[in-house]
Amino acid sequence: MHDEPAGARKEKVCQEQECEEQWSQLEQGVRDCCTTFVYCPFCANEMVTRCSVCGETVSDIDFQFCPWCGVKFDQ
Ligand SMILES: [Zn+2]
Ligand SMILES: [Zn+2]
Repeated sequence: MHDEPAGARKEKVCQEQECEEQWSQLEQGVRDCCTTFVYCPFCANEMVTRCSVCGETVSDIDFQFCPWCGVKFDQ
């Protein structure tokens, strides 16, 4: 599998490792809704936004391009 740069998304994720497992068990449809979450529903930590291509944290959700790998975000 290979991510096309054109398909880059800003993903909202929890940085807690323990939550990663819980998140991975959610259906994709549910996970898509989670992009508006501010806090993680599993640990109440603040969610971070990251680039779906390089996985680096994107500090401003209004960015149109990833500041780390240069891909254009769809949204
Ligand atoms: Zn969490
Ligand atoms: Zn990136």
